[in-house]
Amino acid sequence: ALELKGVTKKFKKTDVISNMDLKIENGEFLVLLGPSGCGKSTTLRMIAGLEKPSDGQILIDGKDSQTISSVERNIAMVFQDYALYPNMTVYQNLEYALKVHKVKKEERQRRLEKILETLNLKAYRDRLPGQLSGGQKQRVALGRGMAKKSKVFLLDEPLSNIDVQLREKARDEIQSLHEENHQTIVYVTHDQLEAMALGDRIAIINEGKIQMIDTPDNIYNHPANLFVAQFVGTPQ
Ligand code: ATP
Ligand code: MG
Repeated sequence: ALELKGVTKKFKKTDVISNMDLKIENGEFLVLLGPSGCGKSTTLRMIAGLEKPSDGQILIDGKDSQTISSVERNIAMVFQDYALYPNMTVYQNLEYALKVHKVKKEERQRRLEKILETLNLKAYRDRLPGQLSGGQKQRVALGRGMAKKSKVFLLDEPLSNIDVQLREKARDEIQSLHEENHQTIVYVTHDQLEAMALGDRIAIINEGKIQMIDTPDNIYNHPANLFVAQFVGTPQ
């Protein structure tokens, strides 16, 4: 499991995340949903080990995430701002983590051809990120995360710039990776419909605190407080 225990994150003495407790079971699909600035990206970055909690602990299968190596952590992340390697082509961006993890060449090619196909990126494989549109960059960022088939997959608004038709295909692909590889997924969005469609559970966050964490059905039909009710648009 992936556990946050009393996690607080402060930037300049202000709590961005306050005393957060969260347990995500292996193989679970959890969606973090909440308004801009509520702390979704910060939470993902801490889980990925890119940001250190000011207080509290993050445990991965019982081990403190700060004490284990990134290879052992086995996490892939799709960043909200893509964070592609600017001097590598699309193909090299997709391939890099697989090389680091010593995935054999034939297997790398097999996975990447499928991803280029699914995300309509075949025509762009030899371009640099600077030669791509925002939506194309986002597809590369998503493909790079998918290619890794990591144990834990963190996605920060991965479909926000992708066209409607392709978005459904990409969403299905994320779902099937999750099922085939028993991946633990933490998926950030501020699109409620996407949250409802994807999540085993949804955590509604506001101002750095979890307001409610439950199944989509319970969130929608039995909101825990006024914030949740208003946020998911449940009729009063
Ligand atoms: P969005 O939906 O707009 O992406 P978010 O929920 O992902 O929002 P975060 O990026 O986690 O929000 O930011 C939470 C709060 O922390 C915001 O108020 C933001 O301004 C602040 N914050 C984030 N990173 C830093 C930083 N490095 N230094 C100072 N403040 C920060
Ligand atoms: Mg964010």
